[in-house]
Amino acid sequence: MTTAKEIIASMSSLEPGDEALILKAYDFGAKAHAGHLRYSGEPYFIHPAAVAKHLAELGMDARTVAAALLHDAIEDAKATPEEVEAELGAEVLFLVEGVTKLGKHKYQGGERHAESLRRLLVATSADVRVLIIKLADRYHNMTTLEHVPELKRKRIALETLEIYAPIADRLGMGSMKKELEDLAFPAIDPDAYAHAVEVRKLKSKETEAGLARVQKDLQHALARKGVKDFATSIRMKGLWSLHQKLARKNDDITLIHDIAALRVVVPTIDDCYTALGVIHALWKPLPGEFKDYISFPKPNGYQSLHTTVVTGEAGIVEMQVRTKEMHQRAQFGIASHMSYKALVKDSSKNAFQRLSFPWVRDLVPGLLNMRPGAKSMETTARGATNMPDVPQWLTDLKEAHSEVASEDFVEGLKSDFFSHRIFIFTPKGDVIDLPTESTPIDFAYAIHSDLGDHMQGAKVNGKLVTFDTKLRNGDIIDIIKSKSAHPTAKWLEYARTSMARRHIRARLEVSDRARPSAAESAKTAKKLKRGGRKAK
Ligand code: MN
Repeated sequence: MTTAKEIIASMSSLEPGDEALILKAYDFGAKAHAGHLRYSGEPYFIHPAAVAKHLAELGMDARTVAAALLHDAIEDAKATPEEVEAELGAEVLFLVEGVTKLGKHKYQGGERHAESLRRLLVATSADVRVLIIKLADRYHNMTTLEHVPELKRKRIALETLEIYAPIADRLGMGSMKKELEDLAFPAIDPDAYAHAVEVRKLKSKETEAGLARVQKDLQHALARKGVKDFATSIRMKGLWSLHQKLARKNDDITLIHDIAALRVVVPTIDDCYTALGVIHALWKPLPGEFKDYISFPKPNGYQSLHTTVVTGEAGIVEMQVRTKEMHQRAQFGIASHMSYKALVKDSSKNAFQRLSFPWVRDLVPGLLNMRPGAKSMETTARGATNMPDVPQWLTDLKEAHSEVASEDFVEGLKSDFFSHRIFIFTPKGDVIDLPTESTPIDFAYAIHSDLGDHMQGAKVNGKLVTFDTKLRNGDIIDIIKSKSAHPTAKWLEYARTSMARRHIRARLEVSDRARPSAAESAKTAKKLKRGGRKAK
């Protein structure tokens, strides 16, 4: 069992009161989960403690770490929100409740549903920290997946692969993404997994000695060029990502050049281009394989230079060149922005002025101002030496929302994804993604044409509403169905989606012809169906 001490020791900086908060949360969580076991038979509290430690290692703040210790306490153990707030404060409660809420959404599979669920999770996380806790929670659950009953295991793995890994990717958390994928992979397709393991092993054995040689040559050449303080390492491609690439290349291993890549981490952007020159002088680059993600970052903020070269010793090798900050961000993404203390810590008193990008200040909720002269400001320089360039998607968000307050960052994140969509739930917790201003009619038709065609009433959050009611994000809708109910011309005015309108028109035509009592209308529909024409 991870101890409170270990968690505290993993934190990148401690403000006054942080240690006490963690100790208190740890005690509270341990008590709340007392007697409660995991599928593995181990004490349940192993799980929140591990999640908390992971977040501490990511550099998250004390309240996030404390919330992680309690993230299952309200739902699974019988802690009340009032107790959590009284003991640990409103902010911790807010985070815990956020994570609890996220856990309620079920994933049923299917691409359309996957996309709306991903959006929904981001939308309902009123604070990005909630999502980061959720990702760490999922990560730990995936490491103990073998104890989960088989049926459930596959669903969890699929959800991880289709929902959580893409969210980690969107937040720029490269390490998290890769690990989630590779933990899910064996549960989803054991044979393909075994094959990918085999291919990677084969390939790395083949190139190991060669790569070591290439690495040496490169180190010497860089040193001769005066690039100081660089680090090189060999990175292996993730198994899931390898599997996907194999599928794209018809399982032809010889077409995959980045199973093992050489990563070069240098101090500055200038050094990146110098290193690239050194590499191209040593080995011939493959035309068309060079990518400058420094000038053109990926949408999630990823930056690096990628080039693929032909070496004598190791065959064709991909090289990735980046600065330390880029490397940090490629691994931890938004988490490295959230660990604002690292920023304060790193730079001197001028930290604040050196944050030349306003959105970073917005991200730091008053913290830089709140703790003037804190001891941590004087500690040794490490980490960010100058503020990294802003990922494009964050810049876009900021431009759209230029007010200066920390919530704006999250608001911006939300409205980027969601300005035109709302997320509505079925009573079972399935999520339906609709355009704004949609009504119960749109909802019913989005679920099934038959449900729309026979909608008699609709409840929004338990209350009966009229059919022209505009639905709001997060509403739970229960459609009351009756065989005798059918659309009227009025519905066309209320429906917002073209799909609903199309169905309504089709039904109205049928009714027009039959001038129907409800019973006759049903008969007509049946007859049409028999005649081979679909009722929808
Ligand atoms: Mn959990």
